[in-house]
Amino acid sequence: MKWRFAAAALALLLALPGAPALAFSDTRAQEIAQCLPGELQTWNDGRDTPSPHGAWLFFYAHAGAPDWFSAAQVQAVLQRAAQAWAPCGLPVQVMDDAQARTHKPDPAQGRVRVQWDDAAVRGNFAAANLTQRTLNLSPAMFALLRQRNPRHPAIETLQMTVSHEMGHFLGLVAHSRRCVDVMSYYDDGKGKRCSLRDPAALKAHVEYRSQLPTACDIQRCRAANGLR
Ligand SMILES: [Zn+2]
Repeated sequence: MKWRFAAAALALLLALPGAPALAFSDTRAQEIAQCLPGELQTWNDGRDTPSPHGAWLFFYAHAGAPDWFSAAQVQAVLQRAAQAWAPCGLPVQVMDDAQARTHKPDPAQGRVRVQWDDAAVRGNFAAANLTQRTLNLSPAMFALLRQRNPRHPAIETLQMTVSHEMGHFLGLVAHSRRCVDVMSYYDDGKGKRCSLRDPAALKAHVEYRSQLPTACDIQRCRAANGLR
């Protein structure tokens, strides 16, 4: 799936080399924790559809990963994303590809291979291929991020991208208009910007988007799957 969000994230991250991690923001934390009436808005760039499986297995292949991410770190990122999406109601199991090979297939469980593959990502940090059931991560883009902004904690960008792509498999096809949502795009490419409760807060953050699904992401995921 094409992924404009990646380009937007990169622009911000690269524009502020060495920017320090920013102070805790109450407004942003509240936006992550609660979804107010009327805040469930998307860019209408797709139609959410129920997940084709009631459960998912994401298995991780570490080949080709950047040297600065260990297999255990990436797998922990996947686990955190899976746990954070759990309130949507579709269980996500995570394992490495060696474990997956001996895991007895469960027909109720969709299987997604998580891998490093620049060709499948085409200039973004990551992309979900819903047909081939692959979640692709880009070694080249993470190398560029490290080169341009070495002080930025790349693991946070990895967490955000993995959480975002996992959301596509769970039925969230459209991108959110709320800046803080992990499923958001900052703009629509035509001059319209994402929305937030305190517009001034956007500038104070290198990355405003949450690393994990927000209350609105979860609410939309449940709605997409008929679990209101
Ligand atoms: Zn996306």
